Amino acid sequence: MAVTDDELDRRVEAMKQTLRQEGLRLTHQRLEIVKEIAGTDEHPDVECVYRGVRARVPTVSLDTVYRTLGTLADRGLISRVVATAGPARYDANTRRHHHFVCIRCGKVRDIVDPGLDAIGVPRATSELGTVETVEVQLRGVCHDCIASGASRGRLAAPGLCATTSLHEAESERKGEPR
Ligand SMILES: [Zn+2]
Ligand SMILES: [Zn+2]
Repeated sequence: MAVTDDELDRRVEAMKQTLRQEGLRLTHQRLEIVKEIAGTDEHPDVECVYRGVRARVPTVSLDTVYRTLGTLADRGLISRVVATAGPARYDANTRRHHHFVCIRCGKVRDIVDPGLDAIGVPRATSELGTVETVEVQLRGVCHDCIASGASRGRLAAPGLCATTSLHEAESERKGEPR
């Protein structure tokens, strides 16, 4: 489920507006960071976003990526995914959805399903507090891991950056030469 162009534009505009409101200049670097996180549904960590942006903007610093994502997360334009061990993963999909998590490689993918949305909140929860959102996490093994015959029972180093970078994906989509 790739991010559509319309959705990408919507996300990028909202993020640009937020950065402006925060008094942050929309530098080329920040814009590229915004595009990187807005254009992926891979729930990357800071390092992955950094690598993706660095491929286009070699001068970008990890710190700038870290702080820009932090600002966007604080303002609710991206969320931190509680899915796997290790560094925080970021999600620019602000519409209601759930997650499939591969327990081998750490892949996280969005699941949109009315049936999961409709899951009721147990009555006992009222003793704990009020519920604002219900998010279901489906844990299993992804097709890539099954195909690679990974019978290793432990979590491999998350291969989330190993997939095609946004830039490469974009070039392929638009048929541009690299
Ligand atoms: Zn996997
Ligand atoms: Zn998500």
